[in-house]
Amino acid sequence: MTDRTNHGQARREDRVALVTGANKGLGLETARQLGAHGLTVLLGARDLGRGKQAADTLAAEGLDAHPLQLDVTDPACVADAAARIEERYGRLDVLVNNAGITGTCFGPPSTATAEDLREVYDTNVFGVLTVTNAMLPLLRRSRAGRIVNVSSTVGSLTLNADLTGEFAGYNQVTYQSSKTALNALTLAYSKELRDTPIKVNAANPGFTATDMNGHRGHQSVEQGAVTAVRLALLGPDGPTGTSQDDTGTVPW
Ligand code: NAP
Repeated sequence: MTDRTNHGQARREDRVALVTGANKGLGLETARQLGAHGLTVLLGARDLGRGKQAADTLAAEGLDAHPLQLDVTDPACVADAAARIEERYGRLDVLVNNAGITGTCFGPPSTATAEDLREVYDTNVFGVLTVTNAMLPLLRRSRAGRIVNVSSTVGSLTLNADLTGEFAGYNQVTYQSSKTALNALTLAYSKELRDTPIKVNAANPGFTATDMNGHRGHQSVEQGAVTAVRLALLGPDGPTGTSQDDTGTVPW
């Protein structure tokens, strides 16, 4: 749902959201939908030029969108991004850890090297830890901080254990186990933050047409971003420590 004034502008409110990997794909669309809800959106991009282009596109749509250089695998760059947010806004209300890669090994464990695993974990797991820890002091200053980790149903241990289920023939250990680890991080943060207003949940977009899969996904980015946006905008009674898709709870 978009919230627009009669001038076609999104009605502004005071929440600030950061989406990592927001220069394209699901990240860009998540930023667009949060912006349409009136949030100020910071588009994290490892290439500032691509981030600026994406932010300009959203700004031309009337949204309060700004690029932010952010390579999630570079701790100095992440620290610098947090410092910039603190300087400009003093806090952060929503963090969507969206940046992710599949890596180049698409097979089962016996075909992967430790380096294959490390490369994917660097972005999909260690990057999320680095970014989240850098942004936590800012999220703690929000009245209602929200952290959304963009996971995948292919990382669900429960679904993978079903040898007659939808993932019976799918065994890409690097990417899948990175999302399993991301789910574990989601739960761990939710436990650590359970006595604070901050809610931490995992969003599962579903198979969405983006560069990540050569646009073979059967959903549009508009559909794929819906769950992350819903979890980013949860009210005070919303859940924490859950994994969800657009139909409800996804088993861990
Ligand atoms: P995408 O179009 O390939 O976009 C990935 C984004 O992540 C790009 O902006 C990319 O930036 C960025 N990124 C990669 N490494 C980064 C780094 N080190 N630092 C900062 N940004 C980095 O893929 P997508 O489909 O939108 O994926 C977004 C998220 O959804 C991922 O976490 C993915 O695992 C998850 N997901 C996707 C699907 C699907 O079917 N598409 C399904 C389930 C989950 P560059 O442009 O610079 O490469």
